[in-house]
Amino acid sequence: MLETQKLDGFELAVKDFMISSERVAHVQKGNNLEHALLVLTRSGYTAIPVLDHTFKLQGLISTPRIMDVIMGIERIEFEKLDQIKVEEVMNADLPCLDENDPLEEALELLIDHPFICVVEGKGTFAGILTRRQVLKQVNRLIKKIKYN
Ligand code: AMP
Repeated sequence: MLETQKLDGFELAVKDFMISSERVAHVQKGNNLEHALLVLTRSGYTAIPVLDHTFKLQGLISTPRIMDVIMGIERIEFEKLDQIKVEEVMNADLPCLDENDPLEEALELLIDHPFICVVEGKGTFAGILTRRQVLKQVNRLIKKIKYN
């Protein structure tokens, strides 16, 4: 949780704002695209993190990427969904933050991405930082400073 005193020394870190891993919808890299599409659709998100069985971050899978793969010339090839694994389609080239990184670093990345994955020291998935979460906390903080 964000505390106003922390602003004094600019000590705000990514972990003060992130949504922790247990609240983040994700898939495993060995899951097939059908499973990924189900999780994406049920969660209502268009992109979610991909992890391995040791909870290490591997990439991101998105609905547009899946649709691109199953889009044939004349029809949508739904039968491909259970034949292709997430790891064959995911975007593995993604920016990522350490939970102890300063907030300034995160803000730079959030200019171009709606959310950034966060890892702990050894690459274990820790959660995500979303633009919405940061804006919500900044809004709260500004009101607190202004009206208290
Ligand atoms: P938001 O800023 O809340 O609209 O989130 C931006 C993006 O972050 C969403 O479109 C998702 O791709 C991702 N996201 C946000 N919250 C979650 C969550 N709990 N689980 C998985 N992905 C999420």
